[in-house]
Amino acid sequence: MSNLPLEQLVVKYQDFRKKLKAYRFADYLIGWDSETEAPSGCFDERSQMVGILSSESFKLMTCSDTVNLVNELYERKSELTPLLALEIKKYKKELDQILNIPLTEYVKYNTLLASSQQKWAIAKNKSDFTLFSDILKEIIAYQKKLMKYYETDELKGYDTLLDIYEEGITKKDYDAFFDVLKRDLVPFVLEISSRKSPAKKSLINKKFKEEKQEILSHYFLDVLKFDWQRGVLKKSEHPFTSGFGSTDVRVTTHYYEDNVYSNIFSVIHEGGHATYELQCDQTLDETFLGGGATMAMHESQSRLYENMIGRSRAFWEAHFDKLKTTFPSQMKDITIDDVYYDVNRVERSLIRTEADELTYPIHIMLRYDLEKMLLEGNLAVDDLPKKWNELMMSYLGIEVPNDKNGVLQDIHWAMGSFGYFPTYAYGSAIAAQLYYYMNKEFDVAESLRKKTTADVNEWLKEHVHKYGKTLSPNEMLIKATGEAFNPKYYIDYLKNKYSKIYNIN
Ligand code: ZN
Repeated sequence: MSNLPLEQLVVKYQDFRKKLKAYRFADYLIGWDSETEAPSGCFDERSQMVGILSSESFKLMTCSDTVNLVNELYERKSELTPLLALEIKKYKKELDQILNIPLTEYVKYNTLLASSQQKWAIAKNKSDFTLFSDILKEIIAYQKKLMKYYETDELKGYDTLLDIYEEGITKKDYDAFFDVLKRDLVPFVLEISSRKSPAKKSLINKKFKEEKQEILSHYFLDVLKFDWQRGVLKKSEHPFTSGFGSTDVRVTTHYYEDNVYSNIFSVIHEGGHATYELQCDQTLDETFLGGGATMAMHESQSRLYENMIGRSRAFWEAHFDKLKTTFPSQMKDITIDDVYYDVNRVERSLIRTEADELTYPIHIMLRYDLEKMLLEGNLAVDDLPKKWNELMMSYLGIEVPNDKNGVLQDIHWAMGSFGYFPTYAYGSAIAAQLYYYMNKEFDVAESLRKKTTADVNEWLKEHVHKYGKTLSPNEMLIKATGEAFNPKYYIDYLKNKYSKIYNIN
């Protein structure tokens, strides 16, 4: 204990926070630049600079001064403002996790991860899982060690990893969620996907010039009320959102000339992430409590805008004309029905990132099942491709032709991101629950016909966005909807929408 007066401790903490934020700001800008503007020849030099900066920020985070300061404030948390007490509690949890890992282990693991992504890329390219399996075994062995280091009184085993991506959500919660999906959604998906889409004509494979697609990107971000004073749009290989606080929020998209929808829905999806960040209470910017609450909460916002809003009939009634005037020749003879059915086409497919709204959670469920088996020891890495293919057949009824389109398609496991996947599906289900209650307060479809999402933005700002990380997803859901997470809304939403489209009673 330093025995300093509380005010002095708080000032010291604020100084530390400013410094760490400056490192994070540099890291954010370099990352953004790497994905959007940087020339390919700069990466060797860049990685050395990034290495120095990240080791400096790591030292700042874990040096004895910081550790003592945080521990002392933690001891005296009852004397702090509720906001600062919460921040200290969260920071101490993060710090304890880092400090529990022996430094030599930490360095070894990071070296392993540095080479694993390259090995994965080669294996994927050659479609040969055996080129990746040895390093995956090492990664999994390390994940098992991590689970021990992260263990607390409340969290054991796989729960410790799940908690990193979705604080407070355990295997028990996810099991209950995916059991509902298995029981209610899988048979429905199999039935729908055996039917023919009602779309008579498609825009897929027609040519749409990039310059003209750019007009649509700006148009749809304007529809979402994207603030160009605090936001920016660029191109990147894979669309993403990044930012720093609520005053600097950046989104990217990718243009495919033979797929006009890809850009439209990327822009709306990333625009949803951006709206969350932009509408967070600005007073949280100087703290560590600003921005999206958790991974699933963030994904719930992007998917609410992309799917519930962007793939709704009312949305296309409002914006069909814009598509038509931007692309008159491609849109000749195309009706609103064609577009609506085209953007809601259900197909059983091999690749998660290309999956439609209805089959997407099934892809996630498969990965969740496999992760559990790998980490809890009842599936050997060598048997993983076989098990993958079996589950693909039982959940989606499709044959996997090779590893590239099967077990090797995602980078997550090569990055050591175990526990991440389930947040994607959980986010979609949170979105459905919020959307249901939003509709109780105003007619969302009617509001979208005004060619803006302003009412949707406002509702989400008041019930979700403004809180940043100060509430957990369940606290937020209870406040916004009067009940904790309930997957019923997701299943009902999907069954309702797709029964109508595919004419099933
Ligand atoms: Zn997203």
